Amino acid sequence: MNDQGVHDDASDLHFLAAEQAGMLLALLAAADSGQRDEIPVGAIVCEPLGWVLAETGNDSAASHDPLGHAEIRALRQAAQRRGNYRLPGSSLFVTLEPCVMCQAAIELTRVERVVFAAHRHEEETTPSTAYATASLQMIRRFFAPKRELARPLPL
Ligand SMILES: [Zn+2]
Repeated sequence: MNDQGVHDDASDLHFLAAEQAGMLLALLAAADSGQRDEIPVGAIVCEPLGWVLAETGNDSAASHDPLGHAEIRALRQAAQRRGNYRLPGSSLFVTLEPCVMCQAAIELTRVERVVFAAHRHEEETTPSTAYATASLQMIRRFFAPKRELARPLPL
């Protein structure tokens, strides 16, 4: 990237293309998760050359597993595929900023790069990117009917 913030060489363009593809796959995994009535968060793990090792969404409700976050499931799947509990050089794309549990797992597996679409605090503000908008819209749509049901009936 040059000093005006413009991507001006092939490696930057390759990086941008890989980042966009990773995030789009993560958003699709999040949408799939939402259709299964799970909180719509998706995660992708890619090897350094871009091969996708894992593509998962949340599954905590169906599996009765408090560890069933998209990131943990993606790390497990990637580690199984690679035959190694560590994933050096790999990238994790996730649609929402990882929670503390997932951050620790990411650190333990030595994932090199984490890209997330939306910060957790963005739920209360204007999303900063198109990816953040897409991610947060899915989450809002997921919770809206549940919040409506929880609202007390007018007397
Ligand atoms: Zn998590």
